[in-house]
Amino acid sequence: MIESDYQVIDWSLLRHNGKRCTKCRLHETRTQAVFGGGAESAQVMVVGEAPGAEEDRRGEPFVGRAGQMLDAMLKAIGIERSTVFIANVIKCRPPQNRDPRADEVEACTDYLEAQIRHVNPDVILAVGRVAAQHLLGSTETLGRLRVQRDLHAYGVPVLVTYHPAYLLRTPVQKARAWEDLKRLRQMIGAVQ
Ligand code: URA
Repeated sequence: MIESDYQVIDWSLLRHNGKRCTKCRLHETRTQAVFGGGAESAQVMVVGEAPGAEEDRRGEPFVGRAGQMLDAMLKAIGIERSTVFIANVIKCRPPQNRDPRADEVEACTDYLEAQIRHVNPDVILAVGRVAAQHLLGSTETLGRLRVQRDLHAYGVPVLVTYHPAYLLRTPVQKARAWEDLKRLRQMIGAVQ
């Protein structure tokens, strides 16, 4: 997309539109849309895949078990959750937590682009394959994307790491995630 409709409307209207969006069929099965939230001028923006059951119930991103893991990952490098902005590629929960479909991602992409442009973070932390592939317009595996350098989305540097839900299932990968997080810390110049 060359020009977003949302560049000309304000943030609260964007949020309002996101919350009542009916652009794809997921609105029929959601409890509520999960627009995303956090610090609007955050240095770090976390982008995940889609709301899960707990997020769908509470209307906030990453508030279930994966969210607790995400909080711990950020805390490990001295970043409080309240200082980042958290969003997902799609704003409504897919039934049974299936992968988002291409048409659902397409319908939702303007919201994420507008969020990135509004927050204008120093770094986007893409957690998991769906977020990484969407932001980077790539079909490469997560394993390949997370070791690539100089990645950008909408002009913003992107760092790719494992999804916190994957780390809960596969704790052996935490060592690699820790390498990614240290790189994030370097990128934002944060002091532990
Ligand atoms: N997984 C995601 O990708 N996003 C959420 O908000 C929760 C779980």
